Amino acid sequence: MSSAVFCADIGGSFIKFGVSRASGEVEECGKVPTPVASWDAFVAAMQNFITLYGADLPSSTPLAISTAGLVSPQTGELLATNIPAFTGRSLAKDLSTALNRPVTAANDADCFALAEAHAGNAQHQPIVVAIILGTGVGGGLVINGQLVRGHGGVTGEWGHGAITRTELNIEGKTYLVPRLKCACGQTGCLDKLGAARGMERLHQHFHQRAASSLEIVTGWQAGDSTCGLTVRAWLQLVAEPLALLVNILGPSKIIAGGGLASATELIAALDLALRERVLHRYAAPLLIPGKFLTEGGLVGASVMGRIEG
Ligand SMILES: [Zn+2]
Repeated sequence: MSSAVFCADIGGSFIKFGVSRASGEVEECGKVPTPVASWDAFVAAMQNFITLYGADLPSSTPLAISTAGLVSPQTGELLATNIPAFTGRSLAKDLSTALNRPVTAANDADCFALAEAHAGNAQHQPIVVAIILGTGVGGGLVINGQLVRGHGGVTGEWGHGAITRTELNIEGKTYLVPRLKCACGQTGCLDKLGAARGMERLHQHFHQRAASSLEIVTGWQAGDSTCGLTVRAWLQLVAEPLALLVNILGPSKIIAGGGLASATELIAALDLALRERVLHRYAAPLLIPGKFLTEGGLVGASVMGRIEG
């Protein structure tokens, strides 16, 4: 158990750096562009942060990292990363050697799940599922406070695997469900229809018209019928695989993150659609927005650094 933890949230554009001096709290210190092409420049940036903001902390203070991409628990290798400097690297191990201190790393959705289970809206819940409804669909699983990394580090990634439904029936009319090729190699994944970009693709599919997810959700709330059709279809397509996830895992809370989690009425509607479809009848909302919608990476990393660092 460490008294302080350095934490970093590494995205394709920026690195956010923070220092956690108490459990569940992170002081965000700085932000620099991610040196995407050079490992040495990345190491230098991390060392610079530690020197600047950790002068009073012991040299054994761990660094915990939240990053896009998947961290293999078997090899530590970072997979599906959008940062070329990390390709083929064992991020935590290589950085630990370079910085001469303990380093841990996990996927950003996993860190969000840890943050919510330890310090957010799912505290004291035995089984916590976090779902990310952002550009794509992601997720993470925390059981009894521990992150479940699973084989290959892909636990909780419920957005991949084809939607089995081929058509939707909404108010007496039948609509075909578009089947799109996914970056994972499969066709028809929820990832392509279930998050913000997916909602926009559905709107284009139904109405041959481009609109942002924000415009669609706002239109739905205002009673616009075209946006209403898109959102009803979206709710059904997302609620069904999510209900399956609930029946398999039995979570006591599901926490939503990503851009669409800010649309509280949408998340409330998805919660209702979900609770109509699960075997166990939940009396209270099961799916709720997270507390750490922007700082989940840093807070989750600080939690992980305390557990594993
Ligand atoms: Zn996929």
